[in-house]
Amino acid sequence: MFCMTLYKVQPRDVAVVWFRRDLRLADHPALTEAIAAARTVLPLYVLDDRLLTGAAPARSWFLRESVAELDRELRERGGGLLVRRGDPTVVVPEVARAVGADVVLASSDVTSFARARDAAVAAALERDGRSLVLSDGLLLADPDRVRTGAGRPYTVFTPFWRKLQQEPRRPLLPAPTSVPTTPEHLRGSVELGREQPPLPDLPLPGEAAAQERLERWVADGLAGYGAGRELLDGSGSSRLGADLHFGTLSPLQVESTAQELGAGAEAFTRQLAWRELYHHHLYHQASEPRRPSSLASAFRSEADDPAAVSAWRDGRTGIPTVDAAMRQLASTGWMSNRARLITASFLTRHLLMDWRIGERHFMAHLVDGDVANNRGGWEWSAGVGLDAQPWFRILNPVRQGQRFDPEGAWVRRWIPELAGVPGRYVHAPWESPEAVAGYPAPIVDLAEGRARALEAFRAATRRD
Ligand code: FAD
Repeated sequence: MFCMTLYKVQPRDVAVVWFRRDLRLADHPALTEAIAAARTVLPLYVLDDRLLTGAAPARSWFLRESVAELDRELRERGGGLLVRRGDPTVVVPEVARAVGADVVLASSDVTSFARARDAAVAAALERDGRSLVLSDGLLLADPDRVRTGAGRPYTVFTPFWRKLQQEPRRPLLPAPTSVPTTPEHLRGSVELGREQPPLPDLPLPGEAAAQERLERWVADGLAGYGAGRELLDGSGSSRLGADLHFGTLSPLQVESTAQELGAGAEAFTRQLAWRELYHHHLYHQASEPRRPSSLASAFRSEADDPAAVSAWRDGRTGIPTVDAAMRQLASTGWMSNRARLITASFLTRHLLMDWRIGERHFMAHLVDGDVANNRGGWEWSAGVGLDAQPWFRILNPVRQGQRFDPEGAWVRRWIPELAGVPGRYVHAPWESPEAVAGYPAPIVDLAEGRARALEAFRAATRRD
């Protein structure tokens, strides 16, 4: 079961609300439920080193700062956030025992890590006669309800989207005006010193900034999303990924605010549905593992060509759209969807590298890195995932650049070596009659790389 029905919690004195990927007060079913059912509510966040170690610095910073912002918002409402560091399976039952709470409320999550953690916390609480109650808040719809007529999870986007559109939504919940927390319950909280962002141009963390971002996006950007989302410079999309990942906004808030615009919002809500599909897929994978793809045997490991993988990571492949995207990622923790598609296609097709190399690299850098969406995007690009890109479709990074960065302003911004290269050569500098100082020649001939990938994929599908 994905989550419990709302308002199952019996009236009680103290309830703990354990925040995780839901760092907001508005549209928070578990918090609303706790306030309705308990005289005192203790908001808790557990800093879990397993999640912080190895995460992209941009993402760790956004998380810690959003937790600090949540504390600030709670204090303004007469409460505060108890922040502890440690293993939640130990800390959560310890806190519940210390404050005499017989129930801990939280929002459901879908990753195998989160589900194993929640099962262990629930078991530890139960041994003490307490319980963990999970509500929704991470998704638009319950994955157990969005199934095909035969009761199976969807594996194809369009019918999934149709079904998702028909699913009733729960009502949006306002932020509580006060959160009745007892000050002594907050004693011993970890001090969250505010830190400077590790990279420039990161989104401002916290719920208030996220709300502002959403409203500005709907007012100024959303109407142009259909075409704008393809632009390589990223100026045509919402940049709400970190908010949706850490829950400074709920997907329901994003969807319903966008829908106020009317028909123009459809292209955007369709993309939210891809997020939903990938999250549902991860949820179902625990019980229904995916059949391995026949293409998997075609890919090479990093040991087969470490220099090519390093060149890809460092933005020195000699292919401008790929290099600009990889340098933008390293410098800002972000790149547009179109840039993600091009870099993923180049790694998995022209270089024929295992998609998991790219999946790991993106998770180590993206501010909006998200297990479900990142895995979904990489598997789709490699042709091994849900409703994936067919193996014979290979993006040409030169033509993609000419189409989605027609003036070359974006590649020149991230590759200063190309500053003086005229527009007609900027996406293929090797064709320029003038030598381009300091920029490498392509590490792979695009036509040869393409032909090698097609041959390898053809052979792999024949072996199936
Ligand atoms: P917008 O276009 O404004 O979309 C709004 C939100 O909808 C996004 O923030 C995201 O939550 C969701 N969304 C949009 N497109 C997709 C999509 N194709 N799949 C799933 N969700 C989508 N998205 C992540 O959130 N985290 C990742 O780690 C991630 N890794 C990716 C890796 C690859 C190889 C690819 C091809 C795509 C990946 N995406 C990922 C999906 C998409 O590229 C990003 O969500 C989007 O570029 C983020 O920018 P935005 O917030 O401005 O998106």
